[in-house]
Amino acid sequence: MSHLFGPVPSRRLGRSLGLDITPYKTCTFDCVYCQLGRTTNKTVQRREYIAKDSILCELRDFLPEAEADIDYITFAGSGEPTLHSGIGEMINAIKTMTDIPVVVITNGSLLFREDVRDDLSNADVVLPSLDAATTSAFRAVNQPHESLSADLIIEGLRMFREVFRGEFWLEIMFVRGVNDGTDEITALSDAISLIDPDRVQLNTVVRPPCEDVMPVDEDEMVRIREEFGGNFDVEIIAEKRIEVCADILPLLERRPLTMDQIAGSLGIHRNAAAKYLRELIEQGAVVETVHGDKRYFGVKI
Ligand code: SF4
Repeated sequence: MSHLFGPVPSRRLGRSLGLDITPYKTCTFDCVYCQLGRTTNKTVQRREYIAKDSILCELRDFLPEAEADIDYITFAGSGEPTLHSGIGEMINAIKTMTDIPVVVITNGSLLFREDVRDDLSNADVVLPSLDAATTSAFRAVNQPHESLSADLIIEGLRMFREVFRGEFWLEIMFVRGVNDGTDEITALSDAISLIDPDRVQLNTVVRPPCEDVMPVDEDEMVRIREEFGGNFDVEIIAEKRIEVCADILPLLERRPLTMDQIAGSLGIHRNAAAKYLRELIEQGAVVETVHGDKRYFGVKI
């Protein structure tokens, strides 16, 4: 199975080649807005979930032909990448292969650990999220592993920021009625002052999430940005809601495509594409065919 995906166009990173280094939904959280579905392995245990040599080998084979089309190599994917105990060694190995900057997208939940902070220290960009700063909102939005608390995570982010020399952008995902209240914004504002990221990026649910949760509307996002009071470099990065299922069908009307081609065209992760395709197959709108050693998806005629 491939542990690379893309390069896919990314809202924040241009053309990003993804490295998926954990098994599907192995995560410290079970966020209500997660586009990949429910967490099947909620854990804080770090280990080599997937052999790092096989991931690096795949990357080494892939890079020579694709290097010119890649802006960033990004650890992200089906779960929380800092759960992989070999992430630090992988970052260092990539640095010997290419000059393409290395990014880690993380939920930030393990940065209170010194080994995790050390592991990420050679990345060029770290994009952690922090969706809540109070215990109640943290539990409601992230449904974390029982050993984690908002205070512990904020302290981990602060400690990492203090020593990390690369770019550090904090993302906050807002869910209507869950973490968008005035008290929560005040608590988040205090936490951000403490952490001191280079940028704060405000986002909201844009793709069909696994739970029945609603996005914060545009006016509300602007209000939230104003509530932060201009103290930080804050931008709204929420895109218009993508009706992914509706976007897939016109693509497939032109010709059948593989899962990776669909994910690449829509700029979404392969696992998210798989989820939407399953829905469309169940609805009878899409059929799967095998040609050679590849699986193709096309519209049902
Ligand atoms: S959104 Fe990220 S952190 Fe949250 S459950 Fe999904 S994979 Fe884990």
